Amino acid sequence: MTQKDLKLSDIDTFDRERLLLIINITGIGVWDWKVQTGELTFNRQWAQMLGYEQEELKPRGFKAWLDNLHKDDFQRAQKALDDHFNGITQEYEAELRMRDKSGAYIWVLATGKVVEWHKGKPERMIGVHLNIDERNKNEESLLITSQLLNQSQKVAKVGGWELDLITGILFWTDETYRIHDTCPEEFNPTVDAGVGYFLPESKDRISKALDEAIQHGKGYDLELETYTTKGRKIDVRTTCVVTQENGASVRLTGIFQDISEQKATQRELEQINQNLEVANQALQRSAHYDPLTGLPNRYLLADRMQQAMVKSLRKKNYVAIAFIDVDSFKAVNDNYGHDVGDELLKKLAGELKHALRDGDTLSRIGGDEFVAVIDNLSYPHESDAVLSRMLCSVSAPVKADGHTLSVSASIGVTIFPLDSCDPDQLLRHADQAMYLAKQKGKNCYHVFDVENDVAVKHLNEKLARISMALHNEEFELYYQPKVDLRTQTVVGLEALIRWNHPERGLLFPIDFLPEIECDNLCIGVGQWVIRTALAQLHFWQTQGLDLSVSVNISPLHLQQGDFTAQLKTYLDKYPNYKANSLDLEVVESSALHDVEAVSAIIESCKALGVTFSIDDFGVGYSSLVYLKRLPVRYLKIDKSFVRDMLVDADDKAIIEGIIELAKVFKLSVIAEGIESKEHGEALLELGCHYVQGYYFAKPMPAEAFMPWLESRSTSK
Ligand code: C2E
Ligand code: MG
Ligand code: MG
Repeated sequence: MTQKDLKLSDIDTFDRERLLLIINITGIGVWDWKVQTGELTFNRQWAQMLGYEQEELKPRGFKAWLDNLHKDDFQRAQKALDDHFNGITQEYEAELRMRDKSGAYIWVLATGKVVEWHKGKPERMIGVHLNIDERNKNEESLLITSQLLNQSQKVAKVGGWELDLITGILFWTDETYRIHDTCPEEFNPTVDAGVGYFLPESKDRISKALDEAIQHGKGYDLELETYTTKGRKIDVRTTCVVTQENGASVRLTGIFQDISEQKATQRELEQINQNLEVANQALQRSAHYDPLTGLPNRYLLADRMQQAMVKSLRKKNYVAIAFIDVDSFKAVNDNYGHDVGDELLKKLAGELKHALRDGDTLSRIGGDEFVAVIDNLSYPHESDAVLSRMLCSVSAPVKADGHTLSVSASIGVTIFPLDSCDPDQLLRHADQAMYLAKQKGKNCYHVFDVENDVAVKHLNEKLARISMALHNEEFELYYQPKVDLRTQTVVGLEALIRWNHPERGLLFPIDFLPEIECDNLCIGVGQWVIRTALAQLHFWQTQGLDLSVSVNISPLHLQQGDFTAQLKTYLDKYPNYKANSLDLEVVESSALHDVEAVSAIIESCKALGVTFSIDDFGVGYSSLVYLKRLPVRYLKIDKSFVRDMLVDADDKAIIEGIIELAKVFKLSVIAEGIESKEHGEALLELGCHYVQGYYFAKPMPAEAFMPWLESRSTSK
């Protein structure tokens, strides 16, 4: 039976039932069209596909189809029908857009076939409508996605590739071709061709990586250099992931990215960094090293000395500071010229360095003056051997610019901490000893005599006198009020030491504190100050005054191992001690060398209810390290800034900066040294609320405070 002969009556009842079921389940729209009369009937599903009930469309018949057909699809439908009627196609088939009840268009696959002919003309046609909207939309979005992908690959210069290891076919995306300056019409990608374009070193790496991927399933991510098919050199990133089946690699997939621009920027940056590094090194060298000999200069020496001294205190051993002066060097310069002199100095520097031990520092601090730092000595005279070696090395004949020169050296030595003073002082002592070596006839060394040094003798006498003053209770604490500018009330007092000297009268801290700062005596004085201030605080509190008292603590005292324990014994005497009414003021100072340890001490004192202030902020170390690491509560602006703040814009700016800084670290600010009403007004405007200064009161004896306070309240 041919298709043309198919009759409806040929379909038996069994088939009809199934057909109906299928139509119901699948929602296929069925239509039946009398071609000559134009009468169109359709099933429920046909109408429902367009969102209508069958009854709604029924009266409109053929118009229900024609009216809802997208006008752009009419011609296509017409042609498909004509082709079928004219026998060109066996079936009518067209993808058409039909408008549904909501007004939106859906894609419909219309198929049909003429089932009755009359005199060669189509009489009746039966067909179906299938909803293919979903499928078409998917296809559409797939198309858009792939176009987008292509676009974004172009923008990002990222191509893709896939190698089927079974067929050996290598697939490149459009962008991969573009990166290679070619196109699919022009170039047939193969693994060998692709690898062949890489530069030699890159070729090795990619070949190995490909081998690994194929043999062991290991992916890669490489940055390589390659030529394009047109010979342009580019940087690329290529990655690979391996798909395996049954343990064997079957497919490699990856990206291929042009990273020439990034690489160029990276290289440029690397070059800049390198140049910076070189410049930085040169700067460092010129700042810290002597250009002639390459030895550390005076600045670096100070640092090395400081380090060696701290280490020696910790390890309880000795450091020798040797001041070396070349004897009769001036004569070499005068007789042979400066070039020969310079040459000699360079050679001597080498000889001296050779005579020292590894780790010792040799520095050139002036013309023919060198300083050696010989540390880690178990006993003071351990440096003798090194000193003798240095003398020998200098006195050996030296060849400079064709001349054989013989010189010698005089060395002065001082030993820390037998000679317990700061680096500058140590250098002066070594220098003094060097002069004595010269006086002794040169070519020898002389050790600084700590016991008999005049200055030291003098200092020792002073220390003994201060110690006696402590014993004889000649010290007294004066108190200076701290005022809250907003309320004009007194919030606390700072205790300041005075010496009632029997012969010299009232002495200020500047007259005696500097002498004891580096001596253990400052601990005894400091302990007396804390005890006295605490007793006074207790007294005022029993009188009903709600005040805090600040005490200045020297760095050496604070860093004593038993500082907190001592403080606790003093506080324990006052069971009613009000937490946070004792404040300890510490100056920023290089003497607080171990910030970590100081921070731990402060924390442990805080636990006892004692607060801390950084005193004289801005003039000392001014290191943010202190602010960041020390758990203090107050920041005291040094009086030198406050004094001139009304006339000096820089000082005012510094104060503003300190106030801002304090905000960042959540500290309260106290300005010291306010001498006028205007100072107070200006500070208040800047946001500094607490002050102390002569404007309110000079430091006064303890017994003068209550009367002063009373006179204030009566004068208000
Ligand atoms: P400081 O802790 O910064 O104390 C403030 C100093 O500024 C005090 O000097 C005070 O008299 C002075 N001062 C306060 N207001 C004004 C003002 O309006 N104008 C002027 N020109 N000066 C003002 P003082 O008492 O001579 O103390 C000097 C430094 O000695 C103190 O500075 C502190 O670092 C130290 N000091 C004082 N007492 C002790 C102490 O008991 N122990 C320790 N370790 N150091 C102390
Ligand atoms: Mg102070
Ligand atoms: Mg101060």
